[in-house]
Amino acid sequence: MPKKGNLSVICGPMFSGKSRELIRLIHIAEIAGQRTATFKPRIDTRYSHSDVSSHDGFHKGAHAVETASEILSILATYPEFPEVVAIDEAQFFDRGITAVCLGLVDRGRRVVVAGLDRNFRGEPFGSMPELLACADEVLKLRAVCMRCKDPRVTATLPQRLVDGLPAPFDSPEVMVGGAEAYEARCLDCHEVPGKPDYSVIFQEMLIDS
Ligand SMILES: [Zn+2]
Repeated sequence: MPKKGNLSVICGPMFSGKSRELIRLIHIAEIAGQRTATFKPRIDTRYSHSDVSSHDGFHKGAHAVETASEILSILATYPEFPEVVAIDEAQFFDRGITAVCLGLVDRGRRVVVAGLDRNFRGEPFGSMPELLACADEVLKLRAVCMRCKDPRVTATLPQRLVDGLPAPFDSPEVMVGGAEAYEARCLDCHEVPGKPDYSVIFQEMLIDS
């Protein structure tokens, strides 16, 4: 019987089925008789204050918390410590989330995390890079690009739209309650006005080194 737990990370853009996969894994654990606890950041109030919800209507009761350390405080109140800890929208948590997840793995827990691996600019989002690096298992999901609708399911990026237009590079990483919309898009269709040309920056780095 292994003493340590493990960390699984589910990532991808919106509409790729991350929350649905998270809910599916929790469900399997519960069928197997394991105790589970589910968390989400309080910032995400799209559908409910206390549920993890997929876009296609699956729900799971969750604790909505403000900080990563609050996850540990709530777990400590359980009469029996849950064997499986699920965390949705992990990109919105503070940087303590990686330590919380690894601490739980150290104490033999199975931790399943879902989140956006990239922000609307296409950059790594919050603590997701650390979580992905530390994961024992990674599931990177894709969605159908809402612009080209390529049936090969090529969308890896979140497209932020403000009043129907692509949001500029210098708009804030997290926008709460703004008149915004998100789509999943492929690299060809992803639009971020003012985004630096990374290939040029990379070339300059190579010249400098
Ligand atoms: Zn596309």
